[in-house]
Amino acid sequence: MSENYDVIVIGGGPAGYPAAIRAAQLGLKTVCIDAWLNKDQSPAFGGTCLNAGCIPSKALLESSELVHRAQHEFEKHGISTGEVAFDLAKMQARKTKISRDLTGGIKALFQANKVTGLFGFGKLLGDGKVEFKGHDGKTQELVGKHVIIATGSAPVNLKIAAFDNDKIVDSWGALDFTEVPKRLGVIGAGVIGTELGSVWARLGAKTVIIEALPTFLPMVDQAIAKETLKHLTKQGLDIRLGAKVAGAKVEGDAVVVEYEQGGEKKTETFDKLVVAVGRKPYTDGVNAKEIGVAFDERGFVKVDGHYKTNVSGVYAIGDVIGGAMLAHKAIEEGVALAEQIAGHHTQVNYNAIPSVIYTAPEVSWVGLSEEAAKAAGFEVKTGTGSFVSSGRAKAMEQAAGTVKVIADVKTDRILGVHMVGPFASELIAESVLALEYSATVEDLALTMHGHPTLAETFHDAILSVDGRAIHG
Ligand code: FAD
Repeated sequence: MSENYDVIVIGGGPAGYPAAIRAAQLGLKTVCIDAWLNKDQSPAFGGTCLNAGCIPSKALLESSELVHRAQHEFEKHGISTGEVAFDLAKMQARKTKISRDLTGGIKALFQANKVTGLFGFGKLLGDGKVEFKGHDGKTQELVGKHVIIATGSAPVNLKIAAFDNDKIVDSWGALDFTEVPKRLGVIGAGVIGTELGSVWARLGAKTVIIEALPTFLPMVDQAIAKETLKHLTKQGLDIRLGAKVAGAKVEGDAVVVEYEQGGEKKTETFDKLVVAVGRKPYTDGVNAKEIGVAFDERGFVKVDGHYKTNVSGVYAIGDVIGGAMLAHKAIEEGVALAEQIAGHHTQVNYNAIPSVIYTAPEVSWVGLSEEAAKAAGFEVKTGTGSFVSSGRAKAMEQAAGTVKVIADVKTDRILGVHMVGPFASELIAESVLALEYSATVEDLALTMHGHPTLAETFHDAILSVDGRAIHG
């Protein structure tokens, strides 16, 4: 017998689970199906982000950063530690516990909000029907007035450096190393490559990041990106730009990578190779194409401005529809769609999506870079503030980095804020709000900031746009 719902969500990651919770809060009978299995075969909600992405990577970044600071900074504070040792198994166990606490929290939220949570596969059958197949193989037919595809994304597997899940691994594999590799190779100097490279480099791996593009972090304002490259290089990350991998093969205990840089053929040998060249939409087994759902040429599900696919009653959100492949973008889409289904008017502001790279120092940005603003035809004015002269940053022994503000000469409106520096991940929130409210440079110049705080550096950058900086 089939079970009827108002909303069926396929995928319980950052797109799917908030959509399910919000729909249920709005009085809709909702079920969320998730197929995730951890490596120990335990099922969990939370998708890539909580199980193999945002959260475990930040847990290891935090632990490895503490090791680095204990080794290199404590002494400056007058704290002697003797030789700093770490236990990787404990570090990994802590990481797993954090993920499990959070994914268990989603289960509890489902119960509290009366969402039916099911572990297993969802398959579209058409006309609102969805086949649910539990991990035990048992199937059940569900019928929904609204069906949401929130099946996320998967790492791109390069044919020339195919994953063997031992020596050549994806980001999930790189979060689970049981030993610190002596020599680590990373293909791709994007967000994931630089974060994972940082983790293992701080723990002692000699790390080389090979990037095909000649430009480092092209999506970031180039003044900030160039400064970031200097900081990461100083930390020991060997980032090789304009280096195109020709192939990687496992030879005994090592991975041999051949690449070309500046017209020269080169070879490097590593103990482990992480391939972090991007993610692709994941819809395997969902049967979406078969029931007529349209995809774009890159495999993303095509949706309109209200997340509707071309098939009536079928929607898609999160990584599977492309755009910024970020958890907070997925969450906002999930909530917005649930509210739209319940008859409310909502909108996601795609011009104010913050992005963060959790290296040390951290990099964050929102809105346009100077290059992108000029390319879009704006007459721009810019200002910078430096963490080098920040009292708080000095006290934290982290006085490095820059905040750059990009504004429109004609309207004084802030177009973008890009920064590298301590707690840039947290500091960007003020700039997101500024963009959300269409704030001008003058608005922010007149806004008081606490002293001594890192946020003062943002204020300095704002003041410097019109040559008013006191500390610049
Ligand atoms: P997913 O999280 O991929 O969830 C999709 C879910 O659908 C999965 O649980 C999957 O098992 C399930 N599913 C698939 N097919 C079916 C089916 N047929 N039936 C049932 N269930 C199915 N983003 C940030 O914002 N900040 C970060 O710091 C950050 N760090 C990251 C670090 C790494 C290493 C990685 C890999 C990603 C990171 N991301 C980060 C990106 C973030 O994880 C994704 O943008 C986010 O998880 C997308 O959410 P989603 O719900 O669309 O997809």
